[in-house]
Amino acid sequence: MVGLRHPHVRGLGMTAQRNRKRLVDRLYEEGIRDDRVLKAIGTVQRHRFVDEALANMAYRDTALPIGHGQTISQPLIVARMTEALLEPGPFDTVLEVGTGSGYQAAVLAEIVDQVLTVERIRPLYQRAGRLLRELGYHNVRLRQSDGSWGWPQLGPFERIVVTAGGEQIPDALREQLAPDGVLVMPVGPSGRQELIRLTRHGQDWERESLGLVSFVPLVSDKI
Ligand code: SAH
Repeated sequence: MVGLRHPHVRGLGMTAQRNRKRLVDRLYEEGIRDDRVLKAIGTVQRHRFVDEALANMAYRDTALPIGHGQTISQPLIVARMTEALLEPGPFDTVLEVGTGSGYQAAVLAEIVDQVLTVERIRPLYQRAGRLLRELGYHNVRLRQSDGSWGWPQLGPFERIVVTAGGEQIPDALREQLAPDGVLVMPVGPSGRQELIRLTRHGQDWERESLGLVSFVPLVSDKI
C-alpha cells in the first residue's frame, strides 16, 4: 500500500497549492498589491490551521471556526492588516494579540524577522505553538496571557496588530508602541468594527480608518 499512499499525499499537496494560487488571484482582484503579502499567502498552508474536516474550505476567502468560539480570520482581512503594517515602511519585529490558529502569525513570519504573539485561551495557544514549530516557523514566539497588557518585557514594538475587536485601543498597547510605531486593530462593538491604523509621531498620534471589519471580541481581564 505504500506505493499508493505516496502519490495520494502528493496529490493533496498539489491541490492545496493550486487552491492557494486561486486565492492569491482573488486577493489581487480585491485590491491586494503588496507582493510580499501575496507571496506569503501563496505559501502558508492555511489548511493546516483549520480542523481536518474543514480543510477543503481552507482556501475560500472566509473566516472559519477554530473551536472555543473563535475563528481564523478571512484571508482578505489577514492580507489587508498585513499590508497596513508594511505600508509605512520596513520593520523587524511585530507583536500580535490574538494568536488563534496561528495563521496570521505564520503569514507575518514569512515576511519579517520576528513575530511575538499572545493568546489568552490555553488550548489554542498550545495548538498554535505545536503547529508553528512543526511547520518550521522558528521565528514565532508565543505566550499565553491577556494580550491587552501587551508583552511589556519585550517592548517597545515597531508594529502591533490586534486580531480581536475592542471598544477602544488598550492604553498598555499604545504605551508599548515605539516612536513612529504603527498599531492596527479593529475598534468598535463585537462583530462590526472599524479597522484602525494608529501611528505614533512623537507626542502626536495619527488615526486612520481602513474600513469596516467583523472580528470576535478582545476579552480583557482588566476593568
Ligand atoms: N489571528 C488569528 C485570529 C484569531 S481570532 C488567526 O490567524 O487565526 C481572535 C483571537 O484572539 C482568539 O483566539 C481569542 O481567544 C484571542 N483573544 C481575545 N482576547 C484576547 C486577549 N485579551 N489576549 C489575547 N488573546 C485574545
